Parts: sequence; C-alpha cells; structure tokens
Amino acid sequence: MKVPFVDLHAQYLSIKTEINSAIAQVITQSAFIRGKHVDAFEQAWAETLKVKHCISCANGTDALYIVMRGLGVKTGDEVITTAHSWIATSETITQAGGRVVFCDTQEDTFNIDPRLIESKITKATVGIIPVHLCGQPADMDEIMAIANKHNLWVIEDCAQAHLATYKGKVVGTFGDAATFSFYPGKNLGAYGDAGCIVTNDDTLADWTATFARHGGKGEHVMEGINSRMDGLQAAILNVKLPHLPAWTTARRRVAARYNELLRGADSLTTPKVGDDRSHVYHLYVVATDKRDSLKKALADSEITTSLNYPKALPFYPAYTYLGHKPADFPAAYRNQSRILSLPIFPEMTDEMIEYVADQTRRGLTGLSAARATAAKLANV
Ligand SMILES: *Cc1c(COP(=O)(O)O)cnc(C)c1O
Repeated sequence: MKVPFVDLHAQYLSIKTEINSAIAQVITQSAFIRGKHVDAFEQAWAETLKVKHCISCANGTDALYIVMRGLGVKTGDEVITTAHSWIATSETITQAGGRVVFCDTQEDTFNIDPRLIESKITKATVGIIPVHLCGQPADMDEIMAIANKHNLWVIEDCAQAHLATYKGKVVGTFGDAATFSFYPGKNLGAYGDAGCIVTNDDTLADWTATFARHGGKGEHVMEGINSRMDGLQAAILNVKLPHLPAWTTARRRVAARYNELLRGADSLTTPKVGDDRSHVYHLYVVATDKRDSLKKALADSEITTSLNYPKALPFYPAYTYLGHKPADFPAAYRNQSRILSLPIFPEMTDEMIEYVADQTRRGLTGLSAARATAAKLANV
C-alpha cells in the first residue's frame, strides 16, 4: 500500500461536480478578481467564526504583514512569537519593520509557552503572535492576560487551525485580529494562494482593506499594496466551506484511531492535547528519539511523512543574526530532531490508518531489535 502525506485529489473527486460548476461560473461571469464570489466568502467566513469583519487577501503571509501594518508596527518595535512555526509568522514581523523576538514552546504541545512570554517583554514590545500550531489552540487565557497587563496587541496566526476551539470559542476570536491561510494543503484550502484577516475592530478592518487594495479604489487615501483574493479561489472556498465541519470530524477520527493503534508504541509520543480545547489536526505529529530512522523505515514502506519543521525558527540561517544558541530554546531545539508528521487527511481509509500505525510500530521495534543486536555484538 502507498500512503501519501495528503491527498488533495481524493477530496476534489468527492466534490468534483460542485467545484467544476463553480469554476465555470466564475469564468462565464469574468468574476476573476474580487467580485461577488469573494464578497460571499468574506461574509460566510465571518459568520462561521462570528466575527464582524473578514478581509480577504492573497495569502496567509500577506494577512500577517497587512494586519501588522494596520496595528502600526514601526521600526524598532518588538513582536514576540513562537520559536516553532512556519517562517511566515516571523518574516512578516521584519517586513512590517519590527524586530522578531522568539519565545520557546511547550515541549508536549509545540505551542508557545505562556510562562516564558513575560521574560521577553521590554519597553519596545508592542505585540504577541501566538500560532495555533498543527491545529491545536495555544493557551489563549494566559496569553490574553499577559497582553492586557502590558497593553500589547495579539494577532492569532490561525493558518493551521480553522474551526479549532478553546473553551468552547473558535480560534481567531481571542486577539485583536487573526489571520488565516487557505493554501491548498490547509484544512480549508483553495486551489492556489488565498488568505484573510478577521477582526471585530472596525477601524482596523477598514484600514487593512484599504491598504490591501492600493490604498483605496478611486480615491487613494494612502499608498497600499496589491493583495487580493481572486474569484476562482473564493468560489472554490464557497463550495468547500460547508464541508469543513465534516472534514474536521474526519481528521479527528483519523487522529483518534492513530492514538489507539499507537498507544504504548516503543519510545513514541502521540499528540498531547491541552485542557478545554479541540484540536483540528492539520498535522498529526509524533515524537521519538528514533525519528530519522523511523522516517526512513516509513519511506521504505511507501508512506510519506513530513517534518514540520526540521528546525526551530531561531536556528535557520535567516536568524543567525540574532545569535541564538540551542540553550535559548531548549524545548523547540529538542523537538526539532524528534518530531515526525504522519499522513493525515479527511479521506484516509481505515486500511491506510492501520497500515501507517502498523509500519510505525514495526519500524520502531525493528530499530530496537537492530539496536539490541548491535549492543550485544559490542559487548562480545
Ligand atoms: C501556511 C502558514 C502561513 C502562511 O500562509 P500562506 O497562505 O502560505 O502565505 C502562516 N503561518 C503558518 C503557521 C502557516 O502554517
């Protein structure tokens, strides 16, 4: 059996008629850039999250940049974010003119450790960007309490966490604003790049929408950028959105089955979910000291896995200038060589899940057996 990491084609086949007709409509109507499909998606997504405004844009990275500009980030401002994320979270801080300040993660959830945030705050700190990594909500109560105490803004990076909830409330509704990515592989994915900002702040909504569209159509009240969602992407998202709750349930089912089948597997940790929150399993990440050999064993069994991410952000060449050492982020540093993302997507069959779990167990014990033999030989 072959198990891909995700199977976007299987999802397309399940909604092919609707998708094809939505695409045909956009082309027939020449509704290529913004227009009624985009307006409809903005409204539907805002209603889904129960927020006042959804401002669509070209991708999730732009969403972060635009909203930071909207919050007035300027040269020298420090923004605290997690040491373990996709680089979009931190590169946009720099783009907006700010200074990136990394904070270590919790070793078992991979999310920013709220106990460490206050030690990173200086007179220059203006905001915090927690990421709900892998689809698991960060500790929003603790993070919002720190932000309120120090008068900082919070942008939730929800790129991996569509519909995840914390204390019964959907993520993206805790901070001053939140950003989403609709990159094809995300839990709600377009067929190209797309993203959005959500907020309850009227002024911020107005400013970001204006900035993203060249500083205003007709009357340019300022210089802006060109960051638009196109009509094809919006029409596809409109078809997919009603399916998202069922796809989320299906992801949870895959995760629950993996948890069951991998329980007690030799030296393997399955995802830990914090209290009072629901995980949407954009990624199903296990951790083991035998990561590299397990990854290879699974590849030999035609199972595609992924590393999200192979290095914590402070240890990439892009951040050498910050001069960090492994001891500055011990949890993120330890995790980077232990984590492995197993295949997860709503259309996974029971046979696929069982095969992956089986090969994972076999890979781990096979490795232990090989290690025991090596140890025995060494003792001779
Ligand atoms: C995907 C992602 C982004 C960026 O989204 P794009 O749409 O690819 O620009 C930002 N943050 C995180 C955590 C992501 O996973």
